[in-house]
Amino acid sequence: MSLSIVPSSPLSRRTALLGALGLGAGAMVPILSATDAFAYATSVTANYPVVKQGSSGGAVRVVQGITRTGVDGVFGPATKTAVINFQRSKGLTADGVVGPATWGALVNTVRNGDNNNIVRGVQARLSITVDGQFGPGTLSAVTTFQRNNSLTADGIVGPATWAKLVGGGGSVGGNPKNLYTNGRLPASALTSVGFGSWRLSTYCINDFKAMNAAFKTRFGKNLPISGSMSAYRTYDQQVYLYNLYLSGKGNLAARPGTSNHGWGLAVDVSVSPYGSTMYNWLNANAGKWGFDDDVSGEPWHWAYKR
Ligand SMILES: [Zn+2]
Repeated sequence: MSLSIVPSSPLSRRTALLGALGLGAGAMVPILSATDAFAYATSVTANYPVVKQGSSGGAVRVVQGITRTGVDGVFGPATKTAVINFQRSKGLTADGVVGPATWGALVNTVRNGDNNNIVRGVQARLSITVDGQFGPGTLSAVTTFQRNNSLTADGIVGPATWAKLVGGGGSVGGNPKNLYTNGRLPASALTSVGFGSWRLSTYCINDFKAMNAAFKTRFGKNLPISGSMSAYRTYDQQVYLYNLYLSGKGNLAARPGTSNHGWGLAVDVSVSPYGSTMYNWLNANAGKWGFDDDVSGEPWHWAYKR
């Protein structure tokens, strides 16, 4: 196979190279298009989180989307290999750690009509179809994200929007209250809180994880979720707890189908009573991530209000 026949336009050159390598258009290899090229200065990405093997969350989803690794939000060996390959391709230190320089090479401004790996990163972060094509669905998800995060809702993913997308907080996609029936969220709309078996709506998961990370920094442990039904709660679980309450054997429980737990937007944590050190910390800080103890008399119940 001679590469001298490779045409000059980037797209046809890429197709010809794939053909020469015996790879079809759908082959799962990281191909960098012209619009993937650099990118942001490290002054722009200086405050982005450093992600590496063992990290999890929205920033990892961005990395996985752009490097065309399986998107699960958990930075494992395959993601590390993909990052090392990406770093080599850009002449960066190939250590598998995504710091400011690697972030600067990974992300760039994308908008409606673009078709590249950076768009894949946006789509992976927003939990929508990852196809690299910035069309109406991506535009809608981006403007919703911008609105939910007090950004200019222009649909253009520039430095301010990227900072929120990778920043460890911020709501993801649409509010489950507008999309699903209480207590009947599909598994695809729920995400692990990152420990135990608890799940919350993907909509609030990045803010929850950011809050939990700050709590862990302060108290040396994860937020003490208080029982097996203390995060997302199915309709049947709500019926069970409501019957306990009616019979005088359980705490106050919302009428089935109305609890914020049924939307995956509330979590019960053992920080009682009011005035305890952990309660006071949450009371002073949870609002930064959109959480509030919105039920009087329940210092353990924290609901997501964004
Ligand atoms: Zn509760």
